[in-house]
Amino acid sequence: MGVLLNFANKVADEVGKKYPDVKIGALAYQYSHKPPRNIRPRDNVQINLCSINACQLHAFSDPSCPENVIYMQDLQEPLCMDI
Ligand SMILES: [Zn+2]
Repeated sequence: MGVLLNFANKVADEVGKKYPDVKIGALAYQYSHKPPRNIRPRDNVQINLCSINACQLHAFSDPSCPENVIYMQDLQEPLCMDI
């Protein structure tokens, strides 16, 4: 996600100059599902976490489902540090 988020932030910086109320969207799934540790989205970047890798048979919070345990761990990662 770090590379994708860096790109989205740069686009958001440029778009925000002319359109301060517009948000730039990015999807987090597969390789970009894991949150980055050293970069945060700008205020005008909106990340949509997709559940494509999550198990659809069990609740996300079901601790007996290994796929959803991983999904929830990514969802509950602590906030990243600004760089
Ligand atoms: Zn499951």
